Amino acid sequence: MSRRPMIAGNWKLNLTVEEAVSLAGEIASGLMRDDLDVLVIPGFLALEPVALSLSSSPVLVGGQNLFWQEQGAYTGEVSGPQLKAAGARYVLVGHSERRQYFGETEKTCRLRLEAALKAGLRPILCVGETRDERESGQTEGVVESQLAGALAGLSAGEMAEVTIAYEPVWAIGTGLTASEEQANQAHAYIRGWIGSRFDKLVANSTGILYGGSVKSANAAGLLHQPEVDGALVGGASLSAESFLGIIQAA
Ligand code: PEP
Repeated sequence: MSRRPMIAGNWKLNLTVEEAVSLAGEIASGLMRDDLDVLVIPGFLALEPVALSLSSSPVLVGGQNLFWQEQGAYTGEVSGPQLKAAGARYVLVGHSERRQYFGETEKTCRLRLEAALKAGLRPILCVGETRDERESGQTEGVVESQLAGALAGLSAGEMAEVTIAYEPVWAIGTGLTASEEQANQAHAYIRGWIGSRFDKLVANSTGILYGGSVKSANAAGLLHQPEVDGALVGGASLSAESFLGIIQAA
């Protein structure tokens, strides 16, 4: 089954609204591919202005996180319906920086994922092991428990809306990248797990992105692996030139 590739740029805690709109414009005007999805993931303040500026472009917009309640006395939080109304189509769930600095657990990932689906957003669930976990042979066990926790109780129909991002923590923002073989092997493991938890059809249609220091120089090798369906890019998505270079290499 052919899966449509996706290149997603996670802008994290970077860029003013003006800078974000300007970068989005540069990406949209330099985009020369229509055979893959391009997604930009600005900070919350810039999300709606970026989405409005991209309204006549194929570039999609996503949120970096969401809270599981739709509204109420939850100071500082942003809900799925708010993201959707602002123009988001996708939302990250369980990025390793959320797990590391903001107490994200498998249970809260599950709640966020369910809230995203309920709001009509497509969740991108991020999973991946730390360096210690890889070196002690726990990669598959860690990824398995992250998948099992966040996807608990999901139907095959709901899973069809979910994208997975395999992001080894040791490769995020460090300049270290998983080798092509390491990435392909981890993606194959994830696809196999989805096949046994759901079914083969779901497994073969689920997009699995690789993330961890992807740049234009290493993108082609990673993105041409058979199990790798695209990339979630952090640092290299903050310049139109490098992000478009990755898109061209896909
Ligand atoms: C990320 O934030 O998801 C990421 C992969 O970052 P970087 O590309 O900078 O490693």
